Amino acid sequence: MKKQFKSESKRLLDLMINSIYTNKDIFLRELISNASDAIDKLYYRSLTDKGVTVSKESLEINIEIDEEKRTLTILDNGCGMTDSELENHLGTIAKSGSLAFKENMDKKKDVDIIGQFGVGFYSAFMVSDKIEVLSKSLDSEEAFLWTSSGADGYTIEKSSKDEMGTKIILYIKDDEEHTYDHYLDEYYIKELIKKYSDYIRYPIKMEVTHHELVDKENNKYEDRKVIETINTMVPLWKKKSSEVSDEEYANFYMDKFNDYDKPQKVISSSVEGATTYKALLFIPAHTPYDYYTKDYEKGLSLYASGVLIMEKCADLLPDYFSFVKGVVDSEDLSLNISREILQKSSNLRVISKSIESKIRKELEDMLKNDRENYDIFFKAFGTQLKYGVYNNYGADKDKLKDFLLFYSAKEEKLITLKEYIENMKEGQDSIYFVSGESISKVSRLPQVEQVREKEYDILYLTEYVDEFAVTALQEYEGKKFINVSNDSLDLESEEEKEKIKKTNEENKDLLGAMKEILKDVNEIKFTSKLKNHPVCLSTKGDVSIEMQKVFEAMPNDIPLKAQTVLEINENHKIATKLRDLYQEDKDIFEKYTKILYSSAKMIAGLTVEDPTEISNLICDVIAE
Ligand code: ADP
Repeated sequence: MKKQFKSESKRLLDLMINSIYTNKDIFLRELISNASDAIDKLYYRSLTDKGVTVSKESLEINIEIDEEKRTLTILDNGCGMTDSELENHLGTIAKSGSLAFKENMDKKKDVDIIGQFGVGFYSAFMVSDKIEVLSKSLDSEEAFLWTSSGADGYTIEKSSKDEMGTKIILYIKDDEEHTYDHYLDEYYIKELIKKYSDYIRYPIKMEVTHHELVDKENNKYEDRKVIETINTMVPLWKKKSSEVSDEEYANFYMDKFNDYDKPQKVISSSVEGATTYKALLFIPAHTPYDYYTKDYEKGLSLYASGVLIMEKCADLLPDYFSFVKGVVDSEDLSLNISREILQKSSNLRVISKSIESKIRKELEDMLKNDRENYDIFFKAFGTQLKYGVYNNYGADKDKLKDFLLFYSAKEEKLITLKEYIENMKEGQDSIYFVSGESISKVSRLPQVEQVREKEYDILYLTEYVDEFAVTALQEYEGKKFINVSNDSLDLESEEEKEKIKKTNEENKDLLGAMKEILKDVNEIKFTSKLKNHPVCLSTKGDVSIEMQKVFEAMPNDIPLKAQTVLEINENHKIATKLRDLYQEDKDIFEKYTKILYSSAKMIAGLTVEDPTEISNLICDVIAE
């Protein structure tokens, strides 16, 4: 009975079959990589399951070409698939990329998509009219044959196969617009294997033709068929980094971690000592689509003496470096070790510490010597570092503070805290920041003016985690962080302070009357810190307006409210006007008060509860 592919898979298949994607070559590395994974799985089972025995020497991948039948066959003696596994794995697009695939389907051009996700097995349809998968699973006595000619569905039937493992037969397309014949050419296939799959740790064997001199006198040659192992089998992380090209690293990374982009940074490390290990780490060039979701799993692939023992070992990475991908291989870890024991292993702890310090060193180096790339890195993963500062009650803040970048009002670009301190004006003893939705919005806040006029730099914080990170830090090199929107901002001269204090005392009744009208504001006062702007809304204490917004957006509404202060510019016309109205017309005074407060809220990015009322008031006042 013919079965239909799941709808997502069908779309992907259509793309594959009618592919205009240029790099069709990648199908081979996808299939070889699946074969290698299947052997890994079998070998791992043999270490942990007494019922399963394998001889390590026999594990291999075979490639066969039949020019006449136009078939290319990939054979492995790995764990194989049962009929339901054939159904689930090959009838459905791989779970890993599926969500992103769906999301990006409409946004981007098809060509992009094919390159973007680990489309794996299906890529074989780029070069095949028909595919047969004959498989016998480790957990089944029977073998099954999965057949499909593409979009019209697939069949699964009982079949026979002597040995465990999987045989994938590709019926290579006839030449039409594109050339497919080279996929039946042993030299071409051999080159592809060398290029993309050299590091595969099992031998990839293929029959190749040796053109041999058999009769020297008559200069007679003869073609002989010889089975050859094509790959060197040395895992990339075991090679000296000087012997590996950037392209090889990039190919390995893109293949293993399903990225469509080259990594931004490759970190290779070989440590010998009490605990010996090799690590090959990558920092992606962009944020993975699921990075800030709960689906994202951090971790490094962990190998014990070249055998994969854990696909994603989370203990090897601290949360703040969860974006790092890679491989760790150590001879000091035992092969058949359970997850629980592994977690307690002191070797693992030593490795994890050492990896962390290696990553730190590389980031420090990038920050110092390759700022352009560091900026790219920070755009992708800076948020995670800021979370790191703030998480665990700031326990890791000192490790991370020098990696942070914030937008500088003065420099108009991202700077480090160290750079901020180094460029502080004489007499300046705090680090000023202001937070809000966007740089253009915060740069126009009334409170910013006074600080900028003193030529003090201000950090513009526009990500909601920013202020939490800065609050967790409290200070940097003895310089306190000060929120420009806090009413304790203290930049006036003693004289000015004395004067404004007097003004506020003299106008106690007026301010009290305003407070009576407004109610939800905590304090109202005249100020001399504003130069051109009539009003602003500041806060007292630790909770800022931006923080309150974050709390409000949280599912379980945290009842932390900012203590707001309405500040009125004593030198603005509006101050005189208010004083006059307070004496002459209480009714208009009330209208003015409400309008002023609403505009202050608006500037602070807060919603006005009853905009219609305010709009009517404004019209009333204008019309008068
Ligand atoms: P991915 O490898 O990214 O999971 P694929 O579409 O390439 O996606 O493969 C889907 C699944 O099919 C694999 O995860 C694996 O479980 C199974 N599979 C593919 N090839 C083989 C094979 N040669 N032997 C055993 N299982 C395989």
